[in-house]
Amino acid sequence: MKPAPFAYHRPDELSQAIALLTEFDGEAKIIAGGQSLVPMLNFRLVTPRALIDLSGIPGLDQISIHSGWLHIGAMVRQRQAEAHPDVRARVPLLAEALGWVGHLPTRTRGTIGGSVALADPAAELPMVLMALDAVIHSLGPKGARVIPADQFFLSIYTTALEPDEVLTEIRIPLMKPGVGYALEEFSRRKGDFAIVGIAALVDRSVGQGQARLVACGVSGAPVRLLAAEAAFSKGPGAPAERAMRAAACAADEIEPMHSPSVTIAYRRQLTQALTERALIRAMRKTEEYVKP
Ligand code: FAD
Repeated sequence: MKPAPFAYHRPDELSQAIALLTEFDGEAKIIAGGQSLVPMLNFRLVTPRALIDLSGIPGLDQISIHSGWLHIGAMVRQRQAEAHPDVRARVPLLAEALGWVGHLPTRTRGTIGGSVALADPAAELPMVLMALDAVIHSLGPKGARVIPADQFFLSIYTTALEPDEVLTEIRIPLMKPGVGYALEEFSRRKGDFAIVGIAALVDRSVGQGQARLVACGVSGAPVRLLAAEAAFSKGPGAPAERAMRAAACAADEIEPMHSPSVTIAYRRQLTQALTERALIRAMRKTEEYVKP
C-alpha cells in the first residue's frame, strides 16, 4: 500500500511547527520516528494533508537532570534513552521498560515522544510514566502546559494533547535510592506489544513496604492498580503473602477489554501472575539498587 498524497514540512523552530498545525487545523500529523505513523499512512489508516517532521528542530533530543527531575526531549530516540547513563542510574525502571519496546531497529528510530503521543494501550512507556508519576510538557498556540501522566492517557490512542499541540518533553522524578522496581510482560513474541504488562515500584522505607502498580494491555489506557497497592501496603502477613493477595486484587480490579484472541479470563490470569512476579522481583531489587 502507499500513503495518500501529503505535503511534507520540516520546520527548524517549534513555533513554525505549531503555526503549521494551526494552519492545517487538525489535518496535519506530526512525524517523529515514523515507526507507527508510516505503517498507518501506508495502510491509509490516516490520510493527513501534511506531515510536520520534528527532526529539524534543535533541542528536542536532549536528556538532562535538573533539581531532582530527569528531562527527556520528545525526539529522544528510545534506544538513546535506554542506553543513557543518567536514565540507567537514576530512573532504572524506565531503562528496563525500554528494553521491552519493539526491537532494536525500531527503538533506534522510534522516539519517546512518539510512543507517548501514540498512546497504544499495550505500550510500555505510558504505563511506566504513570508508575513513575511523570509529567508531560506540551506547547501549542495557547501556550505551554504540564500534564500529569495519570491525566494524559485518556483511552485507546487518545491523549489530553490538543490537535494543535506538540509534545515537547517528558519529566520524571528521579527514583528514590533503595526503591525496588520491575516490569513483567507477556506478549506473543519478544518485541510485540504486551498482552498484559505490569510495572511495579516497591519502597520498603515506608511502613511495611509501599507499592505502586500500573498495568498496560488491560484496557484502553494504562490502569493504576489501587486495590492491589492497598493489599500489599496495608494487608497483614509476610511480604510474599501480601504480594500474592495483591496479585489476586489486581486480577479482580481490572476491567479487561474483550478481544477475539485473548479472553477476559486469560487477561485476568496473566494480570495476577505478572503482578505477583513483579512485586517479588521489585522487593528483591530493594537490596540491589545501588545508591546513585
Ligand atoms: P511516529 O510513528 O512518528 O508517530 C506516532 C504518533 O505520535 C503519530 O500520531 C504522531 O503524529 C504522534 N507524535 C509523534 N511525536 C509527537 C510529538 N512530539 N507531539 C505530538 N504528537 C507526536 N511500541 C511499544 O510501546 N511496545 C512495543 O512492543 C512495540 N513494538 C513494535 C514493533 C514494531 C515492529 C514496530 C514497527 C513498532 C513497535 N512499537 C512498539 C511502536 C514504536 O515504539 C513506535 O516508535 C512508537 O509507538 C511511536 O514512536 P515514533 O517516534 O516512531 O512516532
